[in-house]
Amino acid sequence: MSISQLAKSICESPTLKLNETAALLREKGEPVIHLGGGEPKSRAPIDAIVNCTAVLNTGEVRYAPADGIPALKKAIIRYTDENYNRVVGVKNVVASNGAKQAIMIALYAILEPKDEVLYPAPYWVSYPEMVKLAGGVPIPIMPEDGSFHPSVAEIAAAVGAYTKAIILNSPNNPSGAMYSEEFIAEMVRFCEKKNLYLIMDDTYNRLIFDGKAPTNCCQYAQSDLNSSKLIVVNCVSKMYAMTGFRVGWAVGNEEVIGAMSNIQSQQTSGPSVPAQWAAVGALNGVQSSIQSLRMTLENNRNILMDRLKAFDGVKVTKPDGTFYTFPDFSAYMKDSQKLSNFLLEKVRVVTVPGKDFGMEGHLRVSFCGTVKDITEGIERIKWALDPNSPNELYLGDRKLVRDWQ
Ligand code: PMP
Repeated sequence: MSISQLAKSICESPTLKLNETAALLREKGEPVIHLGGGEPKSRAPIDAIVNCTAVLNTGEVRYAPADGIPALKKAIIRYTDENYNRVVGVKNVVASNGAKQAIMIALYAILEPKDEVLYPAPYWVSYPEMVKLAGGVPIPIMPEDGSFHPSVAEIAAAVGAYTKAIILNSPNNPSGAMYSEEFIAEMVRFCEKKNLYLIMDDTYNRLIFDGKAPTNCCQYAQSDLNSSKLIVVNCVSKMYAMTGFRVGWAVGNEEVIGAMSNIQSQQTSGPSVPAQWAAVGALNGVQSSIQSLRMTLENNRNILMDRLKAFDGVKVTKPDGTFYTFPDFSAYMKDSQKLSNFLLEKVRVVTVPGKDFGMEGHLRVSFCGTVKDITEGIERIKWALDPNSPNELYLGDRKLVRDWQ
C-alpha cells in the first residue's frame, strides 16, 4: 500500500485515541476513570438545542456560505465587540468546524513550504501535526526555567528568517496557566514589529478562575485589523460544552480570512448548518451556563489540587483556567508514556502523557468530569504509585493486589 510521506509524518491525535481506548474498556465492563478528557460534561445551552432542532424540523437543510451562515457571523461580530472591544466586518470573520479547522485553514492560508511556526511548550497536541500538514516546520519553545510561562526573550531568540507565525494559547491546554497581561501585550507588539502572524488560540478564555479576567489581545494591536496579522480563534466547544457540534471561528484581516474561507470552501464547505444554528443560539441566548460551568470547574480544580497534595514529590501548579492540570510526576517515573500506560493497566485511570504536549515527566490530568471521578481517580493513582500503600485496593467488588514496587 502506498501512503504519502505527508500522511506518514502525521501522528494520530493522542487525546482522541485515549477516548477510544477508554470507551472500548468501558464496553468490556472495565471500571475506567477518564481523567484524560477534554470536554465539559454539562448539557449544551437550551437556546442552542432549540435553534438546532428548529432547523432540523424544517427538513430542509441545505448548503450554506462556506464561511458561515449570516446569522452566525453576526453573532460572532457581536461576541468580538463585547469580548475584544473590536467592531469587525463580515469579511473579517470565518466560521469553521471547530477551533481546530479555524487554526488549520489559517496555517494553510499563511505558510509557504518550510516556513516555521513557533509556540511555547507545553502546547496543545495538535499544533505540531497541523503545522506539518500545512507544509510548515513546527518549532516548540521550552521555557528555560521549567515553568509554564515562556518569556518574550526566549521566543524572540527562536525567531529566524523562516519564522512566519507564532501560536499562543492562554489559558493553556495542558497546563491551565494563563499568560500574563504584559506577556500578551509584548508578544502582540513584538509580532507587529517583526511582521509575524500571531494566532491567538482563545479556546479557553471564558473558563478562567479566581475572578481573573481574560486578556484581550486585540487591545494591544496598534494597527487597524485589516493591516494586522493577528488572527483570533474561538469556539463554542468548551465554554458552552458543545464539543460535538464542531463550531469555531477566526477573526482577522480580510485578506487572510478570505483566503481561509476559499480553502474551507474546497475542504468542507463550512460547518454543518444545524450546528451553526446551535452556535447562534448559544452565542445570542442566556449566558448563565458559562458562569455555572466556570464555577463547577473551579470547584473541581480546588478539589483536585487538594487531593494532589497527598503525593510526595509531585510538583503541581494551580491552573488559572481550562479544566486541565499538568503535574510533574517525574519523581515517580520519568517516561510519561510508560507512566500513563501503567496507570491505565493497573488501576484503570486514563491520563495523557506529558510527552505529547512537549514536556516529559508530566501527566495531563483533567477535572472536567465528576467530583467522584476526580477523587477516586486520584486515590487510585496514589495507591498505584505510593510504595507505602496497602497491598490491596477494591474497585467495586474487584480486588486489586499490588504486584509491583
Ligand atoms: N485549541 C485548543 C487549545 C484546544 O484544547 C482545542 C480542543 N481540545 C482546540 C483548539 C479545538 O477545539 P474544537 O473542538 O473547537 O475544534
